[in-house]
Amino acid sequence: MTDSAKNLVRKEYSELKKLIKKHNRLYYEKDSPEITDSEYDKLMSRFREIEKENPEFVSADSPSRKIGGKPSSHFAPVTHLKKMMSIDNISAGETDDRPQKAHAFDARVAKATGASPAYVVQMKFDGVSASLVYENSKLARAATRGDGSVGEDITENIKTIKSVPNALCGKVRAPEIIEIRGEVIILLDDFEKLNSEMTNSEGEPFANPRNAAAGSLRQIDSRITALRPLRFFAWGVGHMSGGNPMPDEMAVSRALEGWGFKMEGGPRLCGGVEEAVKFCGEAEEKRESLKYDADGVVIKVNDMNLRQTLGETAKHPRWCVAYKFKPRHSETILKDITVQVGRTGILTPVAELEPVNIGGVTVRRASLHNANFIEERDIRVGDTVVVKRAGDVIPEVVKVVGKDRSGRPPGFKWSKVCPVCPSCGGEVSKMGDEANFICANPSCPEQLKQMIAHMASRGIFDIKGLGRETVSALVEDGVVKDIADIFSLTKERIAGMEGFAEKSSSELEREINESKEVNFGVFIAALGIRHVGKQTSELFAVEFESVDDFFSASEDILSSIKGVGPETAKTVADFTGCAKGVELKDKMLRFGVKLNYPSGRNSGAKEGISGKTFVITGRFSKPRAEIEKAIRGAGGVVSSSVSSKTDCLVRGADSGSKLNKAERLGVRIVDEKTLQKML
Ligand SMILES: [Zn+2]
Repeated sequence: MTDSAKNLVRKEYSELKKLIKKHNRLYYEKDSPEITDSEYDKLMSRFREIEKENPEFVSADSPSRKIGGKPSSHFAPVTHLKKMMSIDNISAGETDDRPQKAHAFDARVAKATGASPAYVVQMKFDGVSASLVYENSKLARAATRGDGSVGEDITENIKTIKSVPNALCGKVRAPEIIEIRGEVIILLDDFEKLNSEMTNSEGEPFANPRNAAAGSLRQIDSRITALRPLRFFAWGVGHMSGGNPMPDEMAVSRALEGWGFKMEGGPRLCGGVEEAVKFCGEAEEKRESLKYDADGVVIKVNDMNLRQTLGETAKHPRWCVAYKFKPRHSETILKDITVQVGRTGILTPVAELEPVNIGGVTVRRASLHNANFIEERDIRVGDTVVVKRAGDVIPEVVKVVGKDRSGRPPGFKWSKVCPVCPSCGGEVSKMGDEANFICANPSCPEQLKQMIAHMASRGIFDIKGLGRETVSALVEDGVVKDIADIFSLTKERIAGMEGFAEKSSSELEREINESKEVNFGVFIAALGIRHVGKQTSELFAVEFESVDDFFSASEDILSSIKGVGPETAKTVADFTGCAKGVELKDKMLRFGVKLNYPSGRNSGAKEGISGKTFVITGRFSKPRAEIEKAIRGAGGVVSSSVSSKTDCLVRGADSGSKLNKAERLGVRIVDEKTLQKML
């Protein structure tokens, strides 16, 4: 072969490789193939042919070498006994009109049935729907939803899921044939662990739990599926024959539970639509604290006879509707990239967006994380980006969907966008191998403003009068040179600045004076040490006798505290060991800041607790840290694992392996109430 011919083949090979990877991704992770099986097979066979003739092209990431790559023939097709229809849904319009839409649904149901029906509500899991057919109580077949009529046979893979019973035993006798429907999901905690341990077929992390579940279910080798933390949450039944009919959804749910299925997030019976809507609202509020991804609540008519009467349209059953949660993602245009200086000097690129409504909140700015994030994704001004807003977290840009390169906007270059600190004009540099650039100027005004804003924020010193503009004025006027200076402010000094009336000056002075008494942990958090948030500060407050103890602790001692990592220990030791840190602390105390130490410390040593080792497990009515603190305050020691040295195990709800071990070792076990009495 001539060189130029070889080059042509090489080019074809690399294009094929890209194409195959793309189709693998569409099939495995997106669950939305764009080409037919035979088209895919053609690509693959040409690809293999080239590899055979040119073995030097083959690299470790070749799709031909992947286990779990797309099979040339799929799983066998399975025709569902009863169609798995999609569910009609209710989502918020310009204004949140979901309650009205739910009432309209109820009105249609009432009109068609002449009844005012009871409903059941059930979380709508964001996973992969599956249908499990049991014949004579034995699991016979499992299939994906597919197009609703025909799915794929995934029986062997479903059998590896521990929460799927192989046989239906229990008080309720199962019908001869019953089709149980539910969702295959991965819990958020498990997903995080999975993603840290392994990657998808292309060596990238999975995008979300749903994709990971879909990819895991479609493994040809069920031994691989068995390694994935899949769970099955049942949510209903399809076809049933050869048994007593079940009168309503609640009866179905009881039967499922009796047969060993895990029932999560419902169903819950609601007297009417009003109650159902109320549940939906509450569920949406709790959404961020769920163990799994859910995108709404399904409202279903409880009574099976009424369902029969209602029937279905060509697309949806008429007896249920999905009340969709507000979206967490929206697309919008990136208008500009600016840079924000954080209180520790970290420079964060910020997306200035075409304002967009996400879940009822208008978002104008979002984090772009760091320079690497932008460069890796080639994000440019003018692109259409996907923005995510979840809970109270700062909105963030997730990815680019539309790249209009016709105007040829330049690629992102940090050195162009932010050659120097936008606040002080100081040098910018990278710290070690961290992704962020920082401004290392200790007197950078923007850093100081952010430090003050942090110190004055809710949950720390909580000084409401120190808003953004006031802080700016104080810093720019040179009145305040560090956070301690705030505590020396007098109304005369404040009123001396432009734009401050006498009244607001007295008000601010009063607020500052009233804020001066704080808990030890709050004081530590106010210092603004890198990596040290409120939670970590509380750990230190529990551990150290006094602020002087904290300031004299070595890096080793700091890192030996449970919950404190080596990086944090280092930044703390750097801060408490430098003259500036010590001076800041002294100055704050000199200006009248007063510390409250946790009560009951040592002096509160309690018999039965003092000197004893405790292990805490399960869920409690209050944060675990609080319980640990109380035990330590009474002179006890808190350890993380049960051993023969453990004196007492405090058990909360859902206690697991630690409880079993404690029982085996004969360790004393108490509940929260008993512990309270001991304290
Ligand atoms: Zn600066």
